[in-house]
Amino acid sequence: MTFIDSHCHIDGTEYDADREEVIARARDAGVTTMLNVGTGDPHSGLFERAVELAEKYPQVYAAIGVHPHDAKLFDDAAEERLMNLAKQSTRVIAWGEIGLDYHYDHSPRETQREVFQRQLRLGREQNLPVVIHSREADDDTIAILTEELSGYERGGVLHCFGGSLAMAQAAIELGFFISFAGNLTFKKAEDLRDIARQLPLGRLLIETDCPYLTPIPFRGKRNEPARVVETARCLASLHEKDLEEIGLITSENFARLFGVRWQA
Ligand SMILES: [Zn+2]
Ligand SMILES: [Zn+2]
Repeated sequence: MTFIDSHCHIDGTEYDADREEVIARARDAGVTTMLNVGTGDPHSGLFERAVELAEKYPQVYAAIGVHPHDAKLFDDAAEERLMNLAKQSTRVIAWGEIGLDYHYDHSPRETQREVFQRQLRLGREQNLPVVIHSREADDDTIAILTEELSGYERGGVLHCFGGSLAMAQAAIELGFFISFAGNLTFKKAEDLRDIARQLPLGRLLIETDCPYLTPIPFRGKRNEPARVVETARCLASLHEKDLEEIGLITSENFARLFGVRWQA
């Protein structure tokens, strides 16, 4: 069995006390690979920390990029720091998470759009696939991706998907993958499950986005990569497949997008 958690944040302080056990539990659950997404203030050393984690564990890779929440902190120094990290470590396999978040608006929208565009160009310069965070910003996200990445072969993923069916289809059209997190299992997520049912399995990934979005039946507890199996289970029932098959298909999709194989 193999499952890949395509988006987690296990470098965070929430895991300082038991990170080894979290990684061991993932392995026991069949989660062979994890993409740890660095996030936070780009001047704080948090991204270096994310890359160090990926250097330490062969099954952990790193993504680096400034989250839309922190777009106001992005500047030339941040760019230099992130570009150096991407160049120095082969463990960095994606640029992100980057994008637009109009739900929280922690950074002004104009700044979010500028920084998103700028980082799409950086990811492209590094020839890395991009990891996109988009919340309540469907139209702007697709417009910017279309403008910046049309014809870009490495593509990317819309992580923790929560948009419309039209958005998912537009992204797939651009060569993107769609990743579902634990919220797919939530009672009220009927609409999201309807969308997941209609998308081609060859374009889907699974993730935890941990420590957030703990799937049913573990809701209320801290999330961790081992729980990605619950999202796979939900997807399996939506597409009437075996759990094992969903694990394999989404792992193959991950390998195709990020260019890395999982270890058995
Ligand atoms: Zn996100
Ligand atoms: Zn995230």
